[in-house]
Amino acid sequence: MTAAMTTPGMVIVGAGQAGVQAAEALRAGGWEGGITLLGDEPHGPYHRPPLSKAWLAGEMDAAQLVMRAPEMLARKGIELRTGVTVQRIDRAAKTLHLADGSALPYTGLVLSTGATPRALPLPGADAQGVLPLRSREDASAIAERLAVCIEEDQPVVVIGGGFIGLEVAATARKKGARVTVLEAAPRLLGRVLAPVLSDWYAELHRGHGVHLMLNAQVAGIEAAATGVSGVKLADGRVLPAGLVVVGIGVVANDQLARDAGLACDRGIVVDACGRTADPSIVAAGDCTARRLADGSLLRLESVQNATEQGKSAAAALLGQDRPFTATPWFWSDQYDRKLQMAGLSMDADAWAVRGDMTGGGFSVYHFSGERLLAVDSVNAARDHLQARKLLDAGVSPTLAQAGDASFDLGSLLVGR
Ligand code: FAD
Ligand code: NAP
Repeated sequence: MTAAMTTPGMVIVGAGQAGVQAAEALRAGGWEGGITLLGDEPHGPYHRPPLSKAWLAGEMDAAQLVMRAPEMLARKGIELRTGVTVQRIDRAAKTLHLADGSALPYTGLVLSTGATPRALPLPGADAQGVLPLRSREDASAIAERLAVCIEEDQPVVVIGGGFIGLEVAATARKKGARVTVLEAAPRLLGRVLAPVLSDWYAELHRGHGVHLMLNAQVAGIEAAATGVSGVKLADGRVLPAGLVVVGIGVVANDQLARDAGLACDRGIVVDACGRTADPSIVAAGDCTARRLADGSLLRLESVQNATEQGKSAAAALLGQDRPFTATPWFWSDQYDRKLQMAGLSMDADAWAVRGDMTGGGFSVYHFSGERLLAVDSVNAARDHLQARKLLDAGVSPTLAQAGDASFDLGSLLVGR
């Protein structure tokens, strides 16, 4: 019997994007012992992004959502256990306690527990037909109710003008529903986009017939015997609704780590390699808050972040340094527009537009002083790929060069 067979295995809690990457990276990185991937959902790992886009639009079937089939994981020696909830970590005994009463020892532990949609803290929010969107079950429930709304011409109200809200609004409009979006802030996607693009998205949605209400104060949900019937605003108006989709952000699933005494601050605090203060425990994905070099914490909720942190966290458990320091990127599909974002534009103080915002593709280059911080591209995939190279290399064009479509930004990368 080898040591690999007698030593407890690596255990991953959460079988989503980050968990799968971590499991596979552990195997690829040379771990020869057991790898167990635990997930509390009834399904194996699946892709979440299509749930608000092609899947909700009815353009994809369930098989296409599958991220990794259990047999594929099994071939890599990864044991997938679904429908299993981890309730407690005993760090001293290096053991997990599961909801079915059993215990599972670990040599190394990856926490990749994701995030939970923030609940609407208002009267009536538990009415039937008031639905969040995170899981396959959530998406099925929305699709079912949406079909009824379209058939009976009942309006759909979306609360929250973030990615979830706007992607669902676009899909519902595409399917022919009447849609209102209520956003509490003065602009859309305020957490991720600069004002110039928030305004552009507002026009895009209005142009597709969405009734958009900014600075909207929702006061409660009204319900009838069949479920939700309307959304009450603070000024007393009631917007009729047969379906209310709530997309008002997420809360990191850090309770397990918190209960185990690990540092948490709106997410499990990790370094660039996914390490916690416990050398046997790493974390990755939406459940984390990453400590940056300047001491601040960064929370990212994206596929790229989950993928890269998953790989870094696995490497850390194998004693290797693989910091995730690449430029963050994201995407969102709404109508026939693909938004691709590279970098983070929050601290920008100037911007230049390249291309034509009134049609075709364009990109917005965000600067802090003379430094390029981020580039948001709409239907401009080439700009996006080039932007990632510029940002990874730390190369900044001038504001004038960025805004001049005849200037070849690629020339700044020659010889790098
Ligand atoms: P998750 O994928 O949430 O996986 C965590 C898993 O852990 C879940 O299955 C959870 O149930 C399980 N779990 C939690 N606690 C326990 C426990 N105690 N025991 C066992 N299991 C547990 N990102 C993009 O970059 N682009 C997009 O276009 C995009 N679109 C999206 C559309 C939708 C509708 C949604 C919901 C998200 C979208 N995202 C998108 C975000 C992206 O999907 C997430 O950032 C990513 O899935 C995070 O991966 P994760 O592994 O950290 O978490
Ligand atoms: P989000 O991006 O945080 O957006 C939530 C929006 O709702 C914010 O604009 C927020 O405004 C607003 N809001 C909060 N409370 C409100 C209220 N009571 N009434 C009206 N508006 C309110 O979160 P999300 O759209 O729910 O997305 C959830 C998660 O899925 C995120 O992790 C997101 O990144 C991920 N996701 C990503 C994509 C993508 O990358 N394409 C697509 C879908 C989902 P304030 O900011 O002012 O609070």
